Amino acid sequence: MGAEELLRRYLEQRKEMGERELVLDDLTVEQVMEMIGARRKPGAPAAPGAPAASTPPSPAGSDWRAAIAAAGAAPGPTPAATPSATPAAARPPADAAPPTGGITVGGGERELFGGPVASANSLEEIAALVAACTKCILHKNAKNPVPGDGPAGARLMCVGEGPGASEDETGHPFVGQAGQLLTKILAAVDLKREDVYIANVVKHRPPGNRAPLPDEMQACLPYLARQVELVRPAVILALGLTAAQGLLDTKESLGKLRGREHRYHGIPVIVTYHPAALLRNPAWKRPTWEDVQLARRILDSAPAA
Ligand code: URA
Repeated sequence: MGAEELLRRYLEQRKEMGERELVLDDLTVEQVMEMIGARRKPGAPAAPGAPAASTPPSPAGSDWRAAIAAAGAAPGPTPAATPSATPAAARPPADAAPPTGGITVGGGERELFGGPVASANSLEEIAALVAACTKCILHKNAKNPVPGDGPAGARLMCVGEGPGASEDETGHPFVGQAGQLLTKILAAVDLKREDVYIANVVKHRPPGNRAPLPDEMQACLPYLARQVELVRPAVILALGLTAAQGLLDTKESLGKLRGREHRYHGIPVIVTYHPAALLRNPAWKRPTWEDVQLARRILDSAPAA
């Protein structure tokens, strides 16, 4: 099947699934660039109106957006710069804007918030506060609090939405099907789950697996903030829209939040799909892979703790 037919089928499938944002799967960058006239097949004559292709634009080069525009495809709003890890030596101060035009929440070191949670000096103390928490109604139906798991010195922190049924039963985050996929995703970038700190925006299970409500997230976010402050990871990976919007205090869509480096109190935040969404739609595995690789590159370039 030719690349054009593949693209047509792919777009129809995505449309049927109600998606408005395009994630190209099963097509190489080269194929798509050929199709939209941004790159000629070797030896092929230039298509009328196509941009001069004597120097084919490279996706890593500076002019690919202009090449796509010249080929007639709408580039959309200029996205952030090509995501890449900023070398540790070149890292700006913690409270500087992120290099890829992402969202910045909070300043640099410490003082994420006040109140009793701020005086918790260990992850265990936070877990105890979470266990006693009655700040929202979620504790009423939950079997167990799910504060978070992982070493205090973790370099990567994964943040999900909230506990599901398996997590509620066990008191541990991401232990169900989505959690098993998360373990595999981490392994794909050479990270052992037990080396990663894993937590959620809300620490008690929302009934029926509904998304947490804004007031529930507001009530619970100080625990996450203090966890971030104590773990001080080199990178935070926000899993899914709820986690990303909660952490970054935004209403932007997942499509807009992905592919940019954001900052949460000076810590780089990368946004990706929730593993549960990947179980429903395997086409999102590839973009997730790209996001996780970006997080890995940032991790690799961060100074050792
Ligand atoms: N989904 C989440 O967002 N968090 C979990 O802990 C489990 C599933």
